[in-house]
Amino acid sequence: MDFGIVLTANEIRLWMAAARQRRLLTVTGLADRVAQRAADLLYPRSLQRTEWDALVAIRLDSKDALLVVGPNEAGFEGERVVDTEPAVWVCPLDRANAEHMRHHLPFTAPVPVGGFDVTFGAGDRLGFASPGALRLFHHSPAVPVVAQQSVRELELTCRSFEEVLAAATWSVFQEGFARPWGADGDHLKTVEWVRKALQAGFTMITADVSDYIRAAYSAGTDEAVTEAWQGVGTGYRQRIEADYGALAFRLDDGESVRFPPAELARTALVYREAVEHAERLYRAGVQVRGEGAFDFELSIDETTFPTTPQAHLFVAREAQRLGVRISSLAPRFVGEFQKGIDYIGDPEAFRRGFHTHAALARALGYRISVHSGSDKFAIFQAVGEESRGRFHLKTSGTNWLEALRVTARLAPVLFRRIYRLALGTFAKSNTLYHTTPDLQKLPDATNLSEEAMAALFEDADARRVLHISYGEVLADADLSRALYDLLRHHLDDYRASVERHLGRHLDALGIPHGE
Ligand code: ZN
Repeated sequence: MDFGIVLTANEIRLWMAAARQRRLLTVTGLADRVAQRAADLLYPRSLQRTEWDALVAIRLDSKDALLVVGPNEAGFEGERVVDTEPAVWVCPLDRANAEHMRHHLPFTAPVPVGGFDVTFGAGDRLGFASPGALRLFHHSPAVPVVAQQSVRELELTCRSFEEVLAAATWSVFQEGFARPWGADGDHLKTVEWVRKALQAGFTMITADVSDYIRAAYSAGTDEAVTEAWQGVGTGYRQRIEADYGALAFRLDDGESVRFPPAELARTALVYREAVEHAERLYRAGVQVRGEGAFDFELSIDETTFPTTPQAHLFVAREAQRLGVRISSLAPRFVGEFQKGIDYIGDPEAFRRGFHTHAALARALGYRISVHSGSDKFAIFQAVGEESRGRFHLKTSGTNWLEALRVTARLAPVLFRRIYRLALGTFAKSNTLYHTTPDLQKLPDATNLSEEAMAALFEDADARRVLHISYGEVLADADLSRALYDLLRHHLDDYRASVERHLGRHLDALGIPHGE
């Protein structure tokens, strides 16, 4: 450590005691001393010095906080706990202080990451998993998207984009993560939400245009589709037929994508309005941030049918024609991507389909994106290989499962209550997630042994039930308080668990990582 505030464990304990008792304590000669021994109370990687102040993340009463030693030039809000010089302040990790932090230490602010080969969306629903995830990326070529939250998740966890970003900022500071990182407003469907995410400081939006995908046409017969196509305005119809009718779009594997007439009619009917909506969402982003200053992921994955190569090409080319700069695109792949469990389907069929989508992405100048990517170990190798090491992968809720895994291990009684609630509210939670576990196969919550609890995390049915339960669990004031309390007291266990689990993902994807 090449600079100043470094304290003896004893001194820090004294401060903590003082802060706890809400009284000031005089401690002299705080600076220029060394104490790695204090690592249990402060986060050594977080030590930073601005022109005037030394900043360090500490844990106080099982809660993380910011310690400022010096005149507090940045004006972090908090309590001055030492009134002699140098002054010492204990500041909460709230939104206002996070904004100060991003301003004074620019590495704690997210940046657009679309230019990197591999980006990894981690997400953090509870707000304290990210330090665990970040540890994987200190020495990895992959760039983490630390904040990644959809509107659905915000609503179910009662958080705002500002709060999610603040949690990410604090995690980055705490870990001294001086590399680039991103913040993704995930699955945004409206202009209003795009604005909100970017105004809050997010640097990426995932534009979900699924409400404008006319799925009915995808199932129609060729005759019905052709007839409907004739009803479309001549100007548009003729332009599309001229642009795509004779097109043979060459991919770098030697294959070409072509549009037989019925296929073209079908594709245009299904996706025309989705393209228009993508443009609206993109323009809203440009208004807030300016051209090229944010990542724009186009998401067409929320459909019941796989995205054809024609659909992928059509949507991307049409959007690009309207001036939309696509950073990444998420098609719906073959097979099923249910949350928190492995891929359902034939991995070889996935590889073939993914191969073409990845080739299309290369040809069109952006990266391919895989959603609901947590725990898809059966296909990770294909993702790494067929994308030639250029992709975005989103995982999110798997951190929630790790939180529950830690709970089962450390607080079986609490876990039993959570599990019982998850089972009881499954039907309700599932209206938002559409997973298909077999509830009959799951053990009852009453008298569930600790071995049986641990086994739930290896069971695909149980994982799905637990995975989507977060909204209902957090809506239960008692359970929510107990869970937060437990995790706060076992942050290291929780973060280690997240690091281990996400590390397995990186291994399977062929991404180097580690200290
Ligand atoms: Zn998605």
